[in-house]
Amino acid sequence: MGEELLNIHAILPHSRVNGPGRRLVVFFQGCSRACKGCFNPETHSFDIKNNYTAEDILAKAASGLEGITVSGGEPFLQPRGLLKLLGLAKAKGLSTVVYSGFKFEELSAMKDAKQCLSLIDVLIDGGFEEDKLEPTLLARGSTNQRLHFLSGRYTLNDFYMPGKAEVIISESGAVTGTGFGSIFRTGK
Ligand code: SF4
Repeated sequence: MGEELLNIHAILPHSRVNGPGRRLVVFFQGCSRACKGCFNPETHSFDIKNNYTAEDILAKAASGLEGITVSGGEPFLQPRGLLKLLGLAKAKGLSTVVYSGFKFEELSAMKDAKQCLSLIDVLIDGGFEEDKLEPTLLARGSTNQRLHFLSGRYTLNDFYMPGKAEVIISESGAVTGTGFGSIFRTGK
């Protein structure tokens, strides 16, 4: 059987506003929820954007990273690839933070997703709800979204990040914005 391919919207080799420390951020492609006011509407289509293996993704990680953050789109709609990615990240000593539109209770009842949960340090669950927008929240956009600390690695204090958003300029001059707010498009 061939290597599992993931449909990925974008990868940030490093960010400091998507969880504790410097992190590789992976945005999965595809989400069927269509939450009103979603910060990442361009991730909703299920058309193939970039096909990568889990190894391809981790090869893009900058050196000295604390961990990976997986966002989207909906990561758990590609559960086998997500499991591989999380397993590889853990094998490299990287921590794992994952966003999902599903609630923790729903994921716990899904076989493949449950396996993924065992490899996640912090799960942030629930889709963005525009009428519950709260700009002061840590690492999330609306009050319905919850942080679940699934291992002993982090506490809420670790989610006080240097800022709410950042602009990353690559060596080629490409400019990417990320963070939690409607002016940026690559954060939940
Ligand atoms: S907020 Fe998350 S779950 Fe909701 S549409 Fe956007 S990507 Fe999907």
